Amino acid sequence: MNVSPPVSGTELPAGLPSAAVVDLDAIAANVRVLREHAPKAQVMAVVKADAYGHGLLPAARAALAGGATWLGTAQLSEALALRAAGISAPALAWLTVPGDAYAEAIARHVDIGVSAGWALTEIAAAARDLGMPARVHLKADTGLNRNGCPPEDWPQLVEDALKLQAEGLISVVGGFSHLVSGDTPQAPVNRQQIDAFVAAVDLATAAGVRFEVRHLANSPATLTLPDTHFDLVRPGLAVYGLSPVPDRASAADLGLRPAMTVLGRVVNVKKVAAGQGVSYGHTYTTSTDTELAVVPLGYGDGVPRHASSAGPVQLAGRRFRVAGRVCMDQVVVDLADGGIGRVTAGDVAVLFGGAPGEPTAQDWADAAGTISYEIVTRLGGRVPRLYTGSAGR
Ligand SMILES: *Cc1c(COP(=O)(O)O)cnc(C)c1O
Repeated sequence: MNVSPPVSGTELPAGLPSAAVVDLDAIAANVRVLREHAPKAQVMAVVKADAYGHGLLPAARAALAGGATWLGTAQLSEALALRAAGISAPALAWLTVPGDAYAEAIARHVDIGVSAGWALTEIAAAARDLGMPARVHLKADTGLNRNGCPPEDWPQLVEDALKLQAEGLISVVGGFSHLVSGDTPQAPVNRQQIDAFVAAVDLATAAGVRFEVRHLANSPATLTLPDTHFDLVRPGLAVYGLSPVPDRASAADLGLRPAMTVLGRVVNVKKVAAGQGVSYGHTYTTSTDTELAVVPLGYGDGVPRHASSAGPVQLAGRRFRVAGRVCMDQVVVDLADGGIGRVTAGDVAVLFGGAPGEPTAQDWADAAGTISYEIVTRLGGRVPRLYTGSAGR
């Protein structure tokens, strides 16, 4: 699949109501920053959920161009989509379900995360049918209490895996776990999880497993907790240039460049008097005679309705706020604070982006009471992704 021709930073091609411009060079540069933070580990760029909304294939290729040597996904179908596009880098999918496409995964050299015995059974059956061993990474639950094998079941999972390995049905490639509070480096649970992970790895090693890669770190841990790095780190959010520790450091502080810029084209500008209610429910009232600009991005595009009367929008080089409710297809911006007479239909609004001074995905997260992960990942399919930069093309 080919990527559309490059566009420049805040350019919105004629006729488009909106777009998310993704800077592939920023993705590659962010991976280089992450490699510097974990110089002894390999980087697995996490590209689940359409690369956090950035576009699976272009983002994956850009991350590899930046020096990632592995790709990580949640669902198996996501890793298989990489293979279908000809991407052959080692890839791990860790959230598979009973009845999943294990035969295809094995045939396409996709590594499979295993958290429970049922998965080993299904994977071994597929490997037997195919006459080809599966590559698996055993996942230990070290305290998150989400997926992963709990400590009391770990010895049995290891024993079962070694038995299947001896039969030539699987190869145990990795051992891994996931952090509870990587974004709070000082939290005591981090040390507890590192210790629990080491214990799980030691138990497996003593039983005869030879892990090629042991991995625990997500983005915040890659940047702030060197003891979690082991052989491989699994950053997602930071690859896309967003801070995983926004209370402690901005993206810029961390040397990261936000890769995504969301643009909308102003469809209407009009004068309204002071005291007029704006948008559904009239939850916002103009405080002076003013102009309102309508931008065609709404919750149908992933703009959070919780950011009504709060989300920032840049127009004519100035920052304004959404006036009133975020609608399904559009938002209204009150230009009273320095924008009157400066904005016309056809102008391009920046909801958030990567350039200095622009509103950020973190600003939208703060406005909506969520995290920047959700702002970029929920960006809707109606917003075309356009690509700038050359990394991985
Ligand atoms: C999503 C995910 C990651 C990446 O997390 P970030 O905080 O985005 O870096 C790493 N490992 C697992 C298991 C994940 O589910």
